[in-house]
Amino acid sequence: MNTKKRIVILGATGSVGMTVLEEIARYGEHFEVVGISCHSNIERAEVIVRNFSVQALAVTNSQIAVPKNICGKIFRGINGLIAMVESLEFDAIVVAMAGVDGLRPVLRGIERGKVIILANKEILVVAGELVMNLARAKGVTILPLDSEHNAIFQCTRGDNRFIRRLWLTASGGKFWNQDRQAIENATVAEVLQHPKWSMGKKITVDSSTMANKGLEIIEAMHLFGVDPARIEVAIHPACAVHSLVEFCDGSFLAQLSPISMKYAARYCLFYPERINVSEQSLDIFQLNELRFFRPDFEKFPCLRLAIEVAQSKQSKRIAYNAANEVAVELFLKEKIALWAIPEIIEDALSKVEDKHYSTVEEILAVDQMVRSKAGQLAKRFNV
Ligand code: NDP
Ligand code: MG
Repeated sequence: MNTKKRIVILGATGSVGMTVLEEIARYGEHFEVVGISCHSNIERAEVIVRNFSVQALAVTNSQIAVPKNICGKIFRGINGLIAMVESLEFDAIVVAMAGVDGLRPVLRGIERGKVIILANKEILVVAGELVMNLARAKGVTILPLDSEHNAIFQCTRGDNRFIRRLWLTASGGKFWNQDRQAIENATVAEVLQHPKWSMGKKITVDSSTMANKGLEIIEAMHLFGVDPARIEVAIHPACAVHSLVEFCDGSFLAQLSPISMKYAARYCLFYPERINVSEQSLDIFQLNELRFFRPDFEKFPCLRLAIEVAQSKQSKRIAYNAANEVAVELFLKEKIALWAIPEIIEDALSKVEDKHYSTVEEILAVDQMVRSKAGQLAKRFNV
């Protein structure tokens, strides 16, 4: 590479954002971080701005005080973030911010023809059709950073013609081999101790209910244009295989790497090239058995519900995502038990009609409507 790739990172202060920054720091001669966003963590954003000589910072939480001299250009609120994406000169945008507020900035990035490195799955769950249609129309590459989808992309290299089935692997979270009672009575502290991955709190809870895998089924169906009936989930506690593709001629391809988001981040940052690294990666002799287990849909109703909504229209997917987010937040505040999460999702799903939407405004309005309904519905589960 002769010139540095100019990168914007939305959600730079989060778990994925920091992993991407570590990779950029490791291979600093190849990249320049031109803009970042944070929501509330100004202290961490300030360190990033200083360490990476970042020109522009967007702070999406309008309640947070921002010191004037922290960065050359400062943008405020979600509209400020959109203005940053519209005004900076860059090559790729890493979307590692949480939540559906990332939708508009992603659409602006696509409209500008920029490469999208997408970790945020909520955006595809609520607006997959809109995002993928615009990307196709603009000839924009969407590089999945979510490890399973990144694994699939590494196997297909963007050619989805010969896929028979996708096999999404799942760690199974903390409870996959425990009885139902252990799940139902789980405390916040137990749930946040993920046995394999270190991630943000919300996705760690989703991993224990398997709502994360449910969201990933919907994410995969949009990214790879595959009907949900051809997307399978396999629990793979070793977390060495990050997903598999079964092709129409009977061959399978899989991607393996150690348990860290850095491999997916590295792949996306250097795509379509690969960087030559000297560090030790997987030691295949340590992989005693590569075992896969069928998920138990009774034990994990969030997974069953996600498969149902994947087959339904968009309104149900928006409702699933919004109700789950509301319920997870209440669980983290110790207001509801873990078992109440799928109950709240199911209640919320019954309150929306099966409908498709063509505009961002409609999508975000339904998202808001479901959030307030789910908040009401959750009251009967308060502990
Ligand atoms: P974290 O909670 O660690 O980080 C979230 C990031 O988003 C932070 O930078 C945070 O800012 C920012 N943020 C939070 N709320 C908002 C908001 N309302 N508007 C704008 N920005 C916001 O999450 P993760 O890094 O774990 O996950 C980020 C995304 O990546 C999620 O969509 C998740 O599903 C996806 N993902 C994560 C994986 C992982 O390994 N963690 C794996 C695959 C996908 P601040 O900290 O400044 O408040
Ligand atoms: Mg994942």
